Amino acid sequence: LSIIFVRRDAQDMAFGGSPLDRASAQRADPAWLAAQMQAGLFLPFWQNRPLVAEGRIALLPWRSDWEDGICVFLGLEGSQALFAIDVAGEEPPTADGEFLEMRPAAFVLPARDTAIAGQAKALIDWHRRHGFCPHCGTATVMRDGGYRRVCPHCAAEHFPRTDPVVIMLPVLGEECLVGHGARFPEGLFSAFAGFIEPGETMEEAVRRELREEANIEVGAISYHASQPWPFPSSLMLGCYAQALRRDFRIDGVEIADARWLTKAEVRARLAGTVEDEMKLPVPIAIAHHLMRDWAEG
Ligand SMILES: [Zn+2]
Repeated sequence: LSIIFVRRDAQDMAFGGSPLDRASAQRADPAWLAAQMQAGLFLPFWQNRPLVAEGRIALLPWRSDWEDGICVFLGLEGSQALFAIDVAGEEPPTADGEFLEMRPAAFVLPARDTAIAGQAKALIDWHRRHGFCPHCGTATVMRDGGYRRVCPHCAAEHFPRTDPVVIMLPVLGEECLVGHGARFPEGLFSAFAGFIEPGETMEEAVRRELREEANIEVGAISYHASQPWPFPSSLMLGCYAQALRRDFRIDGVEIADARWLTKAEVRARLAGTVEDEMKLPVPIAIAHHLMRDWAEG
């Protein structure tokens, strides 16, 4: 059996490649954090949307009306400390700029800003939804600039979660299998994907998901690259799966359609030279790079 070795260093993957030093050792020191906040710059969020002004994330000095918001430490850029602040309210707060949904924001922001905003979104979103101890129900308290919560009642510690998701492209010779998810935008075909379940290896999850969604058996599996995907807290693990035969049968529930594409078709479609209803993933998605790197390899 052939094994597909296409691997990339994912520095240029959207939401990856952050330039920030997370200062893991220092951020546990409250005095150090307080000093950093004095001269810190803050990225405001409202309802999970970063503030964007003139195509960049907005980084602003502290404002006293943010006192009640969830504030997390993002890291150091050189000697400059960056934080994110979640601004409450039913209406968007007045600001120079616009609170943009994270996905559209990723299309307009430069890579550095997308990485910083993605980290901030994943962290803030976790704090918004994890204010109480799952052991005893007591309200928990933030520590380490946002990388830990502790329960004052039972002393349990809670850490921001990252959920691993396998995303895989079955390939056979010069062809790859792409699927149209039932909840995808019309015409979009992409790699297959699913959450890794407790007790599964990455490879087992790849095989299970492909069996469930497309009833296709695969042999060797190889790792391609990973991507943080803050919707809300996934880590996408890109893989290739060596299909054992061309037969497949979609489940009709999660996957509504699937088809084989040749390398030449993938290249032409990614280049935008095919005019029909079918669309392939956009470059901010790891699925785009899975397909491109294989088709151009
Ligand atoms: Zn507790």
